[in-house]
Amino acid sequence: MAAPRANLAAGRKVIVIGGGFGGIAAGLRARALGYEVTLLDRLDQLGGRGRVVRHDGFHFDAGPTVITAPFLLDELFALFGEDRRDHVPLLPVTPFYRVRFVDGRHFDLTGDADAMRGEVVRFCQQDLPGYEKMQRHSAELYRIGYERYSAQPFHKLATMMTAFPEIVRLSGHRSVYSIVRRYLRDDSLRRVFSLQPLLVGGHPFHTSGLYALIQHLERTHGVWFPKGGTGALVAGLGALMRRQGIAVRLQADVARLLHENGRITGVALATGETLPADAVIANADAPAIYADLLPSLKRRRWTDRKLDRLDYSMGLFVFYFGTNRRYETTAHHTILLGQRYRELLDEIFGRGVEVPDDLSLYLHRPTATDPDMAPPGCDAFYVLAPVPNLRSEIDWAVAAPRLRDRLVAMMEARELPELSAAIVTESWMTPQTFSEEYRSRHGAGFSVSPRLMQSAWFRFHNKSEEVRGLYLVGAGTHPGAGLPGVLTSAKVVETLLKEDAR
Ligand SMILES: Cc1cc2nc3c(=O)[nH]c(=O)nc-3n(C[C@H](O)[C@H](O)[C@H](O)COP(=O)(O)OP(=O)(O)OC[C@H]3O[C@@H](n4cnc5c(N)ncnc54)[C@H](O)[C@@H]3O)c2cc1C
Repeated sequence: MAAPRANLAAGRKVIVIGGGFGGIAAGLRARALGYEVTLLDRLDQLGGRGRVVRHDGFHFDAGPTVITAPFLLDELFALFGEDRRDHVPLLPVTPFYRVRFVDGRHFDLTGDADAMRGEVVRFCQQDLPGYEKMQRHSAELYRIGYERYSAQPFHKLATMMTAFPEIVRLSGHRSVYSIVRRYLRDDSLRRVFSLQPLLVGGHPFHTSGLYALIQHLERTHGVWFPKGGTGALVAGLGALMRRQGIAVRLQADVARLLHENGRITGVALATGETLPADAVIANADAPAIYADLLPSLKRRRWTDRKLDRLDYSMGLFVFYFGTNRRYETTAHHTILLGQRYRELLDEIFGRGVEVPDDLSLYLHRPTATDPDMAPPGCDAFYVLAPVPNLRSEIDWAVAAPRLRDRLVAMMEARELPELSAAIVTESWMTPQTFSEEYRSRHGAGFSVSPRLMQSAWFRFHNKSEEVRGLYLVGAGTHPGAGLPGVLTSAKVVETLLKEDAR
């Protein structure tokens, strides 16, 4: 077993519930502080939403594919004096993503400033000065919103009060779309630069303008894809955990958190086995932790009523498929926008009884960057359709096969000719899958949505106010969903563990 970096907590046991990216990162950071770490996940593989689906020789990353902020991954290896590049090579992705409109036009987002200006001019010459101003705004949001506040614990109202004037100065109280609309007149460009909140489960018209920092994050730090896929990144982090002596137990379903006199004492598994701990870091869905894992605790803040009133992110229908041919002109990441924008978003984030008629899709073709993700001469894909979560009354047993057919027809018409004849293997996930397998409340794709009133102090705190010794990490907690968010939430937990150990 390798020696941890520090020894603040030698001999103290921490249990991590959930092996998503947040749980893995928090487990590594706790280990580096000297804790004895055991990580439990109810699934049969690590990674949570970042797990791998394999069939017929095809390799599908189930969830995250747009890898940004690689420095956060580097930090995890560096905690133990290792270099991430020796274990998980990252390949650059160009374009970062392609946005395709119904009329066939497309916009390529890249990290090349001149190419980006060229794309903006191609769509609307007059928007170029506004675009430049918007980039400066995004950079300032990144400096304040990301660099100053994202890794800072936000469980104290005083922190929020200090940050609030700056958040307002930078229009964080407005929506991402309203910031973009201020700078750009062209409707297509407004869509291109406001859709990023969808990547973290937010409605662009309601998500805090702070998230406009994503533009700067991508431009400065690039978009990457691990050689072998996101699954290879998870495997690399899993091997790092093993090298550092972290015990990983899969198919270990935590049924309850144990506590005495307001302090965590361990966890009980569904099998009845109990495991003692000095602290628990919960990476399960934050609302589900309070609703399901602490049944006998009288909760002060996160009451059932409060949990019910939260706004949850949309659901996702993800269709994984392999083809017996390659579609060489299709980019690694393509967003196929539908005809409608705001109206469609309102339906997706609403509680309708049907899947909307037109859809906006995200198409993933990993074989564009790494052909080894599929057998020779073939392509691996997934297409993701944002759909209403389980608060709507959609019956997914009926809706899923129909939606599958619609998606294939849409992609055949817009991006992948003769697709129906080329598909040789397939599977899918619905919001029902997210609810049953990830225990995501309401089957939401990204936990609670990133509105301002559900961000920072208003979001699930990384240090529980309900019971001592409980820390929360992952998409539902501060700062939020997406790999940069959940990896940063682990940094917040590290800071809190250090403070509390002292
Ligand atoms: C289809 C899809 C595409 C995405 N694309 C991107 C992208 O391109 N880029 C990006 O940055 N982000 C993307 N995201 C978002 C990103 O994947 C998530 O925000 C992030 O992975 C969530 O990590 P997490 O740490 O919150 O844990 P999760 O991945 O949610 O993992 C939590 C784990 O906890 C386990 N668990 C829950 N309850 C229990 C229990 N009681 N006992 C034991 N284990 C339990 C679950 O089984 C799960 O394995 C995508 C998400 C999806 C779904």
